[in-house]
Amino acid sequence: MQKRDLTRLLGWPGYRVYKYEVDETAKTLKLWVRKKPIHRGFECSGCGRRVHAVMATWEREVADLDCFEFRTTVVLEVHRLNCVQCGPKVEKIEQVPSKAPYTKRFEDRIGQACESAAARRVAWQFGLPESTVRAIDLRYLERCAAKRRKAPLKQMGVDEIHMGKKIQFITVVSNLVTGEPLWFGRERKQETLDEFFRTQLRSSQRRNILAACVDMWQPFTASITQWAPQCKIVYDKFHIMKHANEAVNEVRRAEFFRRGGRAREIVKGKRWLLLTRWVNLGSHKKQLLNELFQLNRRMMKAYLLKEALQHLWDYTYEGAALRYLKGWVDQLRWQRLPPFEKLANMLAVHLDGILNYCRTRVRFGVVEGINSNIRLLINRGRGYKNLRYLLLKAQRMVATRTELVAFRKVA
Ligand SMILES: [Zn+2]
Repeated sequence: MQKRDLTRLLGWPGYRVYKYEVDETAKTLKLWVRKKPIHRGFECSGCGRRVHAVMATWEREVADLDCFEFRTTVVLEVHRLNCVQCGPKVEKIEQVPSKAPYTKRFEDRIGQACESAAARRVAWQFGLPESTVRAIDLRYLERCAAKRRKAPLKQMGVDEIHMGKKIQFITVVSNLVTGEPLWFGRERKQETLDEFFRTQLRSSQRRNILAACVDMWQPFTASITQWAPQCKIVYDKFHIMKHANEAVNEVRRAEFFRRGGRAREIVKGKRWLLLTRWVNLGSHKKQLLNELFQLNRRMMKAYLLKEALQHLWDYTYEGAALRYLKGWVDQLRWQRLPPFEKLANMLAVHLDGILNYCRTRVRFGVVEGINSNIRLLINRGRGYKNLRYLLLKAQRMVATRTELVAFRKVA
């Protein structure tokens, strides 16, 4: 085989193969390459200008994509330049973006594999240590993130995720319009969110935030009011409904212990049924619930109250929404359902942020969607001690999905 053919097979713009070695027993291919022509100079890694003054030259060996069955490595010449602006600097090499001994396209291949499989599996597939695969994936994701355009933040979502015993909670800030997670912070204090506002946004960006969708969690509200006073706080419907579901479950538990014998048998194991919305139940399941309700009025009332609360977000006019909520609270009278009385108090305290939805519409469910994506990643990957890595991974998930959608539209 001619060196010219190998140069074409390798396909590194500006580089020529000047020596090669094939080891048929070890199944390796080694190529020595050199930049040509050199009269154009070399690119400074600091400022990007062309520099001719070379201070030193040495060789570097990096792994590239395999050629057929042969593990392929490339030995290339690297130059230390004397740049007029930066002083002594190493040249920038497009094909080898980091200090690690791998080419960009090799890292891209690993990173792409990590998009659909766990790092451990990719490590096995490529015969690399798992820690190496993670490091490569992290660099790949950083490069992807650097290339992407940042959308303006008009509506933000703030939520917390429980990460387990060690890290406990992290705070997740997202862009509700693009559905992309923007930032992760340890813990869920006011200071946590303060840090986001302080380090991630300029004051003009903070002024441009119109609405925030948050859980009824005081520290977050306090931080938003301080840093972005113009921003309307809208309490997330999903979180409020989660509280309503918890109230139903508390009633169920109380009924279970209050009643004995046969009645207890009927309440038992109905948790999932009671937490599912009526419209999402099949006819058999509806019948099961009806049987339960015939025997236990209190369970029925709790279920109906939860179902009715859903409709609070159907109203466009603040006055109508308020009337509906008052009617809902009135239904609680004489019902002896303490968990719902507690819920009603909570709603009363956070009334303004609930009614804000009539004035400022936000996309509910985005925060929940991001939350479940992150959970999926944590369960699949295990041990994301590096929050930056987890964030980039979650952002990439959103990006690849939109790319997929865009592709489908074209096709
Ligand atoms: Zn320079």
